[in-house]
Amino acid sequence: MKSLKNKEEKLYRALPYKHFANKSKLKTIRILFKLYQKDANTIFKYIWEKFIKSKTPITKRENIKQIKTILSERYKYTIFNYLVYPTYSSYLEIAKNYIKNLITHSTLSEENKLQLYILNKRGLWLNPPDEIQIKVKKENKEETKTIKISQQNKHLIKKLFHRYLKTNKIPKFNNAPLIVDNKTGEFQQSKTSKKFKQWIRLSTHIKRQVLYIPVEETDYYNQRKGKDTNIFHITKNDLGTIEIKRVKEIKKENTDTQENIIALDFGLKSLFTTNKGDLLGRNFFEKIKEYADKIDKLQRNLQRQKINPKQSKRYIKLNFKLKQFTKNEIRRIINRIVERYKLSIILVENLKYFLKQVINKFPNSVKRALIRIGRKEIKNKLKEISEEYGIQVVEINPAYSSQTCNNCGYVDKENRKTQEKFECRLCGYKLNADVQASRNLIKRFDKGMFVCGRKQALRLQIEEFIANLQLERYKCLWSKALRLLTQNPYFKGLSDSSLT
Ligand SMILES: [Zn+2]
Repeated sequence: MKSLKNKEEKLYRALPYKHFANKSKLKTIRILFKLYQKDANTIFKYIWEKFIKSKTPITKRENIKQIKTILSERYKYTIFNYLVYPTYSSYLEIAKNYIKNLITHSTLSEENKLQLYILNKRGLWLNPPDEIQIKVKKENKEETKTIKISQQNKHLIKKLFHRYLKTNKIPKFNNAPLIVDNKTGEFQQSKTSKKFKQWIRLSTHIKRQVLYIPVEETDYYNQRKGKDTNIFHITKNDLGTIEIKRVKEIKKENTDTQENIIALDFGLKSLFTTNKGDLLGRNFFEKIKEYADKIDKLQRNLQRQKINPKQSKRYIKLNFKLKQFTKNEIRRIINRIVERYKLSIILVENLKYFLKQVINKFPNSVKRALIRIGRKEIKNKLKEISEEYGIQVVEINPAYSSQTCNNCGYVDKENRKTQEKFECRLCGYKLNADVQASRNLIKRFDKGMFVCGRKQALRLQIEEFIANLQLERYKCLWSKALRLLTQNPYFKGLSDSSLT
């Protein structure tokens, strides 16, 4: 009988663990590592080619017997189950989102869009059928409806999928963790050994050779609530150091049913500003600049000496430190927000705007760090909290939000006096510019203004302002408004009659 209980997906996190592998063991691990990643690439290549040839998505039960790998059969299945298959599915999941976006923003008719949405949702990009059965709810009853797919849409969905393949590279496993489960290793608690209480017994690439690695839990591991598993990740950091992580089944935190919303605005002074007035990560950019400057200076020195920076230990170490700092800071700040406010929704500026409005204003060295590490880490961390706490993360287009008064709604470039000061030219409202921008994000969310383009954002903002002016409480601003609007390029082409 099928059980219905497994509706709630379990969450797993690989958390740092200490290990005490000696030099010779580390050497073996490094070799094993290389072979493991090679095998992962081989297995992926096999299922990818099969998918393209057969034109039907591969399932978890795919027969992988005939694939020839370097490591043992046990390793092969572990690699497929834990690494290759999940990577393959998430790559196609991203394809679905990418293509859905293209369909949504196209000028196609609703009927064509519907056909394409269905094909895309079911992953029928490569062999679209002539018709598809879908279930529709009608007065609480489920009915089956047949949707015919036009020749043109069959062709189009293929094209859209190929466009995705062109822009999103097929995954490689050269940085993938070596995952150890009960097929390839064993976690042991020792009662006799005095020095080490926990061990991992690891199969290697050599038949009948096993490694015993002494391990120990870290505070960080213990602090996270959840259930231990006997799955381990062996990874290599940028410095080439072997690290071990143990997977924990994380308990999902229940957030209150209360609707608590917070909006985060990216700033140039502090990383995040909330609508409640917190300025978080005030030294964030300065510290990054410090690291980036050091790295730049060293790089110039090395180049003068004709040394490839990638061969310099100091250079690698500095880059590593910068990466650690960026990651830790972002995680720390977002954790603090989650702890402080029992949240159900977080609104953030669209990350594209983060790039344009914030990242691009820094010198090149800082820019590189933020693009490479910062953006990705913010995305990862937000995804993590949305999974663990059930917090909904909504990206909002912030265009013009820093120039719009959240009191009267007036949009004007001159409203933002300086990077930090906002003062409405119309009603005189004053506030920290970033706090004020984040409050506008909340307004946009409340009003359902999920604007997609800059132009549309401005148009909606102007419409809202004009609607405001009709209200009794803004009557006193009329004559001043008319005067200001004639000088404001945003309101060009707007006739006086639309104001009255
Ligand atoms: Zn105002």
